Amino acid sequence: MAYHPLADPPQAPRTIYGDTGEPAPATPPLDGDVEADLAIIGGGFTGLSAALHAAEQGLRTVLLEAREIGFGSSGRNEGQIVPAMKQEPAHAERSFGRERGQRLMEAAGAGPDVVFGLIQRFSIDCAAARCGIITAAHSPASLERMRQRTEFWQARGAPVEFLDRARAAAMIGGVGYLGGSLDHRGGVLNPLGYARGLARAAQSLGARIHGQSAATSIAPASGGWRAACATGSVTARSVLICTNAYTSDLWPALGRTIVPVRAYQLVTAPLGENVRRTILPGGQALSDTKRVMIGMRRYADGRLQLGGGGVTTGPDRPPPFAQVEKALRRLFPQIGELRWEASWSGWMAMTPDRYPRLHELAPGLLAGFGYNGRGVSMGTLMGRELAKRAAGAALDELAVPATPMRPIAGHALRRAVVFARLRYYRLRDALDTLHG
Ligand SMILES: Cc1cc2nc3c(=O)[nH]c(=O)nc-3n(C[C@H](O)[C@H](O)[C@H](O)COP(=O)(O)OP(=O)(O)OC[C@H]3O[C@@H](n4cnc5c(N)ncnc54)[C@H](O)[C@@H]3O)c2cc1C
Repeated sequence: MAYHPLADPPQAPRTIYGDTGEPAPATPPLDGDVEADLAIIGGGFTGLSAALHAAEQGLRTVLLEAREIGFGSSGRNEGQIVPAMKQEPAHAERSFGRERGQRLMEAAGAGPDVVFGLIQRFSIDCAAARCGIITAAHSPASLERMRQRTEFWQARGAPVEFLDRARAAAMIGGVGYLGGSLDHRGGVLNPLGYARGLARAAQSLGARIHGQSAATSIAPASGGWRAACATGSVTARSVLICTNAYTSDLWPALGRTIVPVRAYQLVTAPLGENVRRTILPGGQALSDTKRVMIGMRRYADGRLQLGGGGVTTGPDRPPPFAQVEKALRRLFPQIGELRWEASWSGWMAMTPDRYPRLHELAPGLLAGFGYNGRGVSMGTLMGRELAKRAAGAALDELAVPATPMRPIAGHALRRAVVFARLRYYRLRDALDTLHG
């Protein structure tokens, strides 16, 4: 049987996030049978944002989290607040039609406003900084995509700049990219602090949040649904499943609509004074257009945090230090001595078309997930939209289009398929960069 993310150790890994920012909120396990307007399953950005927005609209809201707040990828990601999805605007228009596609893209572009707005409104202590995000182009075709992306946003008045090769090299402080796009709407935060702050804010509005309360079943009940866990149950008019990569078949076949992929985060010890001034000197976060992309951010104290470069669909493995170091030295020939200070892993939910999913599985039962590694602002946004629906909004009023659930054919073979694809993507990335 394929490995499931919830088979990981029940304690969250030690990251660099827990020592600063919001403390963990009190989230005692559910005790007994309760009634509510809304039950939410999953205590990451999606579920917490849904809880916050639902409680704000006056819904009696109860959230069940299997482990602790931020246990899933929300507490372990790189903290880049990305104002985009994986696909480019023109692709979204082709996939969902002009009006819906544009609405989705514009919502994604405004996602960081939602995130920064919540952080400010609820004084969330999560080291948030609107420093901008560079997407660096690794091939002529991707450079053209960056040009089109920039034009799409500039036409809507968004603060996005095209970077030519020289400007990208200066802003990144490294070699090898052909240019890129700089989006000033994006930024970075401490993701665990953000998740905990969302939980505190939701609680302050009346939502009840229970940790160590894994939902084991969802079944129809009079007036709605009953979500049960070992220590009790919630009967509610609506239920939201917000479990992203950690989605199981709590609802038949739901877990087979995504491919969970384990991704690693690596953090260096502070780089030397002279070197650190040359890398991302403007303080922007970086990602690139490769199919197997990298993500990177630099802290004021000179540490570099990197993601990508090592994925698996199975149990944890040794972090890919050698592979990432090789890529770093190629990008930053000046980097000098390198020591690693921390590493951990978490799970991303990939979808075949790289779009997130909002499904109405039955009246009053919804699921939102599948962010393909872009869930800080998309998850926050999805939670807000799910809460709107639970409060009575029509499906076509939502920013994220609702689609029918489609299990992936041959899902049981996903491990083999993911590895075959990764090898192919790495080869394609390498061939793309032979641009002279
Ligand atoms: C290494 C890594 C780096 C990333 N970097 C970035 C980045 O820089 N920027 C970005 O935008 N995105 C990034 N992502 C993606 C982002 O972290 C996710 O898209 C986002 O956190 C998803 O939030 P979520 O609330 O939907 O899911 P999660 O945070 O995964 O939460 C799901 C929760 O559901 C719980 N759960 C599962 N089953 C049950 C059950 N039966 N009952 C109760 N609870 C249950 C789990 O315990 C878990 O806590 C990264 C992901 C990883 C793994």
